[in-house]
Amino acid sequence: MVYGLDIGGTKIEIAVFTEQFQLLERWRVPTPTDDYPQFLQTISAQIDKADQLLGKRAPVGIALPGVVAPQGLVISSNVACLNQRTVAADLVARLQRPVALGNDCRLFVLSEAMLGAGRGYNKVFGVILGTGAGGGLCVDGELYQGPQQLAGEFGHQSVAGRVLAKYQLPLYDCGCGLKGCAETYISGTGLARLYSHFSQQSLTTYDWITAFRGGDMTAKHTFECYMDALGACLASQVLAYDPDVIVIGGGLSDLEEIHQALPAAIARHLFAGASVPPLKTAEFGAASGERGAAILGLRAADGRRESLI
Ligand SMILES: [Zn+2]
Repeated sequence: MVYGLDIGGTKIEIAVFTEQFQLLERWRVPTPTDDYPQFLQTISAQIDKADQLLGKRAPVGIALPGVVAPQGLVISSNVACLNQRTVAADLVARLQRPVALGNDCRLFVLSEAMLGAGRGYNKVFGVILGTGAGGGLCVDGELYQGPQQLAGEFGHQSVAGRVLAKYQLPLYDCGCGLKGCAETYISGTGLARLYSHFSQQSLTTYDWITAFRGGDMTAKHTFECYMDALGACLASQVLAYDPDVIVIGGGLSDLEEIHQALPAAIARHLFAGASVPPLKTAEFGAASGERGAAILGLRAADGRRESLI
């Protein structure tokens, strides 16, 4: 058995899997976001509950928003109390068992590459399009990792200059401190921001979809611009990694219109002779974080070194 936990900004999902990743139990609790001792206490209580359900102890894998920097320090997390904390080491001390910790986007890629839409491909590039944009590359079942755990943070590469020029777009401020990051255009929030730019009206992403499907011309123009920005961004990843497949997940991956338009949108930003790899929709949706965390938890229990990603 293994426990996979997915820490979100508002809730923590706890899932119990067999070693073949069959789901046995799942529940959720609110995330303590501002009180680190309370956060640790909440995790401990859920692991105790899982141990009691199973009648035994199992290793733990955790997916969280933020980067797990060298020495296990969590940085840049939107769960504020985790920043600058050695979350994995603190939980190992409390739980007295292997605890693996990883970035939720990277664990999405690992779960899709091993168990989901990327199964059977060697080089899987995974993309999450939700409130932010990020992902990673998995090669032969292993996440590609560098010394700073930054590989996959493509949302903070610059949006393509030719897209800015074509649609006369401003450079938006990004939460990371830079301006003009791709994420501020290609995330769900970015899509709503682009609609506001063209229409001078504020709409949620959900309302934008209704307007788009109802034939609203500004919403259609927004979609063209959005697809151009997304196509350029993913073409850059094709040029960097030449993946065998791209798996798309996150809230926007449910939009059929994006899947239909994406191959041509990427092709427009590749030079002649370069082709677009197969594009697939993620199989596990919102459950990919806990599955990826469980894979990592089992690997940590086996003594493999990538217990922090
Ligand atoms: Zn940024």
